[in-house]
Amino acid sequence: MLAYRLFDDGPRLVNDAPVPEPRDGQVLIKIVGSGACHSDLHVISATAIGKSFFKPPFTLGHESTGTVQAVGAGVQRVKAGDKVAVYCAWGCGKCRQCLAGFENYCIHQRTMSGCGLGLDGGMAEYLLVPAERYLIPLGDLDPIEAAPLTDAGITPYHAINRTRALLTPDATVVVMGIGGLGHLALQILRSTTAVRVIAIDIADDKLALARELGADATVRAGEHALTETMELLHGEQADVVFDFVGLQPTIDLGRELVRPGGDFAIVGLGGGTLTYGQGRIAWGARVFTPFYGSIGEMRELIALAARGGIAAHVTRYSLERVAEAYQALHDGAVEGRAVICPV
Ligand SMILES: [Zn+2]
Ligand SMILES: [Zn+2]
Repeated sequence: MLAYRLFDDGPRLVNDAPVPEPRDGQVLIKIVGSGACHSDLHVISATAIGKSFFKPPFTLGHESTGTVQAVGAGVQRVKAGDKVAVYCAWGCGKCRQCLAGFENYCIHQRTMSGCGLGLDGGMAEYLLVPAERYLIPLGDLDPIEAAPLTDAGITPYHAINRTRALLTPDATVVVMGIGGLGHLALQILRSTTAVRVIAIDIADDKLALARELGADATVRAGEHALTETMELLHGEQADVVFDFVGLQPTIDLGRELVRPGGDFAIVGLGGGTLTYGQGRIAWGARVFTPFYGSIGEMRELIALAARGGIAAHVTRYSLERVAEAYQALHDGAVEGRAVICPV
């Protein structure tokens, strides 16, 4: 089968990857949609300099939907033909975090790899999923449009859940980076809270998208961003700041923008750092680095999409054009999410 695999010397499309056979408890998925994520670009560049945590070769893609092709012995809840979303943070399944559904925070995470990150992922015609608990029924949702929910959606949904107590109707929230994650974060905030939202991005078309998706105000990133945002905040700081970029300039801006007792979520894997300590950020502010979400949150998010609360903006690419999709992502030229469609 066709698969976009990462090797020591970089990623390439191969046409001779074997189609896996599902064994006990496993499920083989025929991929319908697989989203291209900025994290893949970070993994590709880290691999090129020998600094990746994940050992190649493996097939990229940690944002996938499809139909069940075949099931191994003992699989009970899904059958051939079912449309499903794939939960991609595969933990040990045995520790107390995994048993609570938070496989994204598996306590053995540091010694493990997940779908498309060390283990074969969804940028291929077929994907072998190790257990049926990772499959969430899509119902009537279109699998291509639902693909981004399985990473670009669940990651902000989880980040928002972690700070939900601060998201009161009188709160103001800053969202930095209106890309794959940010454009879904805006919709999740709109459909599950009544907060005021200020969106910040470097590109005018992304700011236009933010306004279309319900942002109350937008600010162009750059040297005047702090002043302009503080004006919109009437001199007060924001209750919650979400950084979906994670580069040094956004982290530095976020640190200035979060209010005493507020929350600062650094979500993007841009490689920036925050020096955290007394006097470095507002008193009582909490900083956290959320990663992915729980299996339960994936179900909630798919229910939200089924009820029309969110819809990913999708740009479709064939599997043959996967390298082009990553290039567009690298260039900041994708509106919403690039989704690879093998069929
Ligand atoms: Zn990702
Ligand atoms: Zn675990």
